[in-house]
Amino acid sequence: MDKTLSIVLPSYNEEQMIEKTTETITDLMEQEGIPFELIFVNDGSKDGTWEEILKQKDINPHVKGVCFSRNFGKEAAISAGMDQAAGACVAVMDCDLQHPPETLVTMYRLWESGFQVIEGIKASRGKESLIYKMFAKTFYKIISNATGIDMSRASDFKLLDRQVVDEYLRLPERNVFFRALSSWVGFKTTYVEFDVQQRTAGKSKWSFKSLARYAVNNITSFSAAPMQIVTFFGFIFFLVAVILGIQSLYMYFSGHAVEGFTTVILLLLFVGSVLMFSLGVIGYYISKIYEEVKMRPRYIISEIVGTDID
Ligand code: UDP
Ligand code: MG
Repeated sequence: MDKTLSIVLPSYNEEQMIEKTTETITDLMEQEGIPFELIFVNDGSKDGTWEEILKQKDINPHVKGVCFSRNFGKEAAISAGMDQAAGACVAVMDCDLQHPPETLVTMYRLWESGFQVIEGIKASRGKESLIYKMFAKTFYKIISNATGIDMSRASDFKLLDRQVVDEYLRLPERNVFFRALSSWVGFKTTYVEFDVQQRTAGKSKWSFKSLARYAVNNITSFSAAPMQIVTFFGFIFFLVAVILGIQSLYMYFSGHAVEGFTTVILLLLFVGSVLMFSLGVIGYYISKIYEEVKMRPRYIISEIVGTDID
């Protein structure tokens, strides 16, 4: 039976890491006697990442490379890697070695013992600023509520059985959130803790803006709760309106109706901003529907090397 492990490595501007990562993983896998393939997905890097991948492919028979026509994001890169993976199980890991390769071996052994989804859980979150920590905490709280799974220590470091990968790839939506969807698909799951390593070269691709976009994007693709907040506001406003209505009528009939102009202005401003906010939320969801109905592919490949179909 084929027991090959396909390792998917999304890479964006990682020219300094490709060689080191390839060598580290190759050494470890050979030492452990695990049959494997390395699938680098160059996510439209602006540096020499693709050239580095080609170089490694020429000297290392395990290396495959997929090149995107532009930057499509990490989620798209993960999908593309899984699409190209030929192994009996597929692991996804960052190519900056922040996900320790030794954990990969542990995951593989668990897979051999019959688990189909092995999730990497962050034992510690590594070095992060206070604001970042708070931001991440809020995001994961919302996502955890939406999915019903504790996501606060979840990561993209996972190993999936072929059956799970095929189900994942069958999902028709454009906006995928790998971290949460791997638990959504189900199957026999277990967890492995790992310590997030320091990045040795290059730098993190996340800016505050990209993180904010990532958070909103994933919350809305997993949960309709923000839309329901609109209904909730509507209900509260209805209650307030009834109370104020009764009060106004009382004032009118008791003969001092002109006062309370401040209340009117405040209400107007308040209702106006809530309405605009609500419309914004609805607009956001509509734009997501619009994106999905266009049915565009998740990514476009410009070049493939080393795989069966190159
Ligand atoms: N990455 C990617 N496309 C992007 C951004 C990042 O494929 O648009 C890859 C990146 O090369 C790395 C992984 O995703 O392998 C994690 O990125 P990074 O190390 O910048 O994130 P962090 O570890 O800081 O969360
Ligand atoms: Mg990293």
